[in-house]
Amino acid sequence: MDSYQHFIGGEWVGGDAFLTVINPSDGAPMARIARGGEAEVDAAVRAGHAALEGAWGRVDAAARGRLLSRLAELIRRDADALARMESEDVGKPMSLARNDVAVCARYFEYYGGAADKVHGETIPFQDGFTVMTLWEPHGVTAHIVPWNYPLQMMGRSVAPALAMGNAVVLKPAEDTPLTALALARLAAEAGFPAGSFNVVTGLGEEAGAALSAHPGISHISFTGSTEVGTLVQTAAAKNTIPVTLELGGKSPQIVFADADSELAASTILRGIVQNAGQTCSAGSRVLIEDSIYERFTADLAGRFKAMRVGSASQDLDLGPVVNAKQKERVEGYIELARRDGLPILAQGELGTNLPSDGFYVRPTLIGDVPPDHRLAQEEIFGPVLVAIRVKDEAEALHVANGTRYGLAAGIWTQDIGRAFRLARKVQSGQVFINNYGAGGGVELPFGGVKGSGHGREKGFEALYGFGTLKTVALRQGA
Ligand code: NAD
Repeated sequence: MDSYQHFIGGEWVGGDAFLTVINPSDGAPMARIARGGEAEVDAAVRAGHAALEGAWGRVDAAARGRLLSRLAELIRRDADALARMESEDVGKPMSLARNDVAVCARYFEYYGGAADKVHGETIPFQDGFTVMTLWEPHGVTAHIVPWNYPLQMMGRSVAPALAMGNAVVLKPAEDTPLTALALARLAAEAGFPAGSFNVVTGLGEEAGAALSAHPGISHISFTGSTEVGTLVQTAAAKNTIPVTLELGGKSPQIVFADADSELAASTILRGIVQNAGQTCSAGSRVLIEDSIYERFTADLAGRFKAMRVGSASQDLDLGPVVNAKQKERVEGYIELARRDGLPILAQGELGTNLPSDGFYVRPTLIGDVPPDHRLAQEEIFGPVLVAIRVKDEAEALHVANGTRYGLAAGIWTQDIGRAFRLARKVQSGQVFINNYGAGGGVELPFGGVKGSGHGREKGFEALYGFGTLKTVALRQGA
């Protein structure tokens, strides 16, 4: 079994204590990673500051862009190996992991091209003055990412921070740390100076908590649960630093009687079974207009029954969930539906020849869920879709907005006026009309409102979040 160390200041270090990484497809140990804590975090933050004062601080914007572009090329060169590693580590089908690698490369490519295009302004002011604004990096930034799409989440968070000239300390999830370490190796090969890109592995409550609380950090980008995001924001408040929080969701898919039913049903299914439902923006509540409720749920039920769950390498419709705790949690919600007498409209099947100790869960469609039921309010983070009846547009909006979350929303209708009325009123960071996710485009700003977080990643917008604006006023005399 391979053992992995932290990557700090351009070197592989640490290894007094280790954690075991489990393969979700068969429940067997697959690697050991160093278990970092305060000391390793402190070393990484110091390495970041040394890099900013040294070689990395002298790399100009265009050269930073070239380094990011080079890293994108190296990710593409190693796409097969990275996809295999990600697929095994997360338990996701290979085809999905290949897409994750492509999206990760695209983040570095996109922000590589953007690095030298962030500029300030001159501002008309009193006679005798010239006033300008300058964008500067925050300093050393912290990046804490979850286990569901490690490569995508790392690319999304780290690439814009590097493009703006920050030195980064990345803490991957303890369940899925392997591609973070592979990325660190590729960053070094691309030519990123020592200390500009650091990775500390370990537990959230140890390495993650130490990183969030470290006084040498100037910004935290956190992607994960709303519960932990609240802890991270509290830690950041003590050091009065900004945070970007990309948190959980309970995103509604609203289907009206005039929708393109085939497109809506196939997209809604994919949106909840992809990655075994472990997607922050998964459309996990389907709100269906009363007049088509029976027909539409019957259609969805047929599609759920056709879903096949397999190991990562079998590459079926969905793989296992990430760990035993997650399996127990998701099955607990399905059990809750049974206990409360809610109709289980359909379940997919487990494939054949599944390793017995893998964390497999059947995709499940639950009908007639009251909007205030726990199943309709809490993020399940598994392949479980709850169907809710709504009588009209007004009720759809009320139900859509009636959770603590506000990450994404899908609207399915041919009535453009209704689509735009809802798009304006739904409380959500992104709205998709007659599609869901817009192909995950890296160019599109992304983030939440309410309990789904604040700040925006992706798109050009993310760059501003990873920089700070300085105003320079010069009195040159009349
Ligand atoms: P999590 O909050 O348990 O963990 C996320 C990261 O935080 C991990 O690296 C973990 O080690 C770390 N962490 C845990 N405790 C910590 C602490 N006390 N201090 C600092 N760091 C700590 O989330 P998860 O279970 O890994 O991921 C699932 C959640 O992530 C879901 O809620 C999902 O919706 C959310 N998510 C959101 C987005 C988004 O873009 N909004 C994207 C992906 C996932």
